[in-house]
Amino acid sequence: MSTFKAPKGTYDLLPPDSAKYLAVREAIAAPLRNSGYGYIETPGFENVELFARGVGESTDIVTKEMYVFETKGGDRLALRPETTAAVLRAVLEANLHKAGNLPVKVWYSGSQYRYERPQKGRYRHFSQVGAEAIGAEDPALDAELIILADQSYRALGLRNFRILLNSLGDKECRPVYRAALQDFLRGLDLDEDTLRRAEINPLRVLDDKRPDVQKKLTDAPLLRDYLCDACKAYHEEVRSLLVAQGVVFEDDTKLVRGLDYYTRTTFEFVHDGLGSQSAVGGGGRYDGLSEMIGGPSLPSVGWALGVDRTVLALEAEGIEPDIPSATSVFAVPLGEEARRILFAKVTELRKNGVAADFSYGGKGLKAAMKAANRSGARYTLVLGERDLAEGVVQLKDMESGEQIAIGVNEIVAELESRLG
Ligand code: ATP
Ligand code: MG
Repeated sequence: MSTFKAPKGTYDLLPPDSAKYLAVREAIAAPLRNSGYGYIETPGFENVELFARGVGESTDIVTKEMYVFETKGGDRLALRPETTAAVLRAVLEANLHKAGNLPVKVWYSGSQYRYERPQKGRYRHFSQVGAEAIGAEDPALDAELIILADQSYRALGLRNFRILLNSLGDKECRPVYRAALQDFLRGLDLDEDTLRRAEINPLRVLDDKRPDVQKKLTDAPLLRDYLCDACKAYHEEVRSLLVAQGVVFEDDTKLVRGLDYYTRTTFEFVHDGLGSQSAVGGGGRYDGLSEMIGGPSLPSVGWALGVDRTVLALEAEGIEPDIPSATSVFAVPLGEEARRILFAKVTELRKNGVAADFSYGGKGLKAAMKAANRSGARYTLVLGERDLAEGVVQLKDMESGEQIAIGVNEIVAELESRLG
């Protein structure tokens, strides 16, 4: 071990487990690529104001969780705690929304940073795959995103997840509800922090994870009863599109999200095998976000799925994602000349698309065969002194144990045909 350890709340992805993370990212991305979403990548840090305004001054993310720093040039930056605000910033900056092809549909994959209290499923560095559809108000778009997330999770083999769905209303009806909720909260016996939150952002109180607080909220007014006709109709349409596609969801009238920018459709994917960190992903409509960061009105919808928690969900369900063995052929040279010949063959195999690896470091046969086993390769090539003299190489099928001699010049063709 070196003097250093990974910083608190972080962990390293190491082989072979790291392959699961790649598989999860790939499984989430595949349906997006297939549905008109283009790949977008933004910097790992942004001007701190983008998140303060975009995510919301009173959110946990902005008040407690952001990694903020000042550069030598005097800029105040923050490591991104989420990527939606950054994506919208990038789209506006590049004028993608003016090209006349709204909605702009993009997906991303990357690291997020939040200074949280580390625990299982809650880290200071974690990763998300996200999708955003910017610049269109259409219930089918909300439904599309929920369907695609559902499809990703099913493709991974996950079954024990649930989709929670709610509408947060819009700038017409939410203020009326907000006032009603505030009246209700003022009448409760709550701690000072929570009362302060009730004044700044009362909806956030509904998201309080403490059971005693949740108990006091039993009779809280519900946004559902305050939705204006337009929001009600919109929500009904999203719901019926999902029902028509056979997507099962639960109406959760108390679902709010930890970011201020959500309007109308909000949803969360929860997994029942994860204990208290049960949300594997979430998202919703954010019609006001563009204007909050100085852009034009651009009604939009998106989600972010947590890669780390999705991997935990796979483990909870005992699912091993299909990960093809990294190496198909392992080459074992015995001696200098054999090394040069097999190294050339391995390079040729690789150029022909066959995954091949090599016994490095001049190992003897026993240690080299151990390495071949560990590699998971289906075939091993052993080239010894006597084989060299005869112009052959020993080809061993690691599954059946069967071994035959083939000509050195036949290696590539033989393996290509065997590996199909
Ligand atoms: P939570 O309520 O659990 O804090 P959140 O509402 O803050 O989640 P979002 O900001 O919506 O989460 O992020 C979407 C997804 O990213 C979450 O559902 C989760 O899977 C993942 N995520 C969020 N924060 C963390 C974290 N600190 N560590 C690991 N994954 C996280
Ligand atoms: Mg959070």
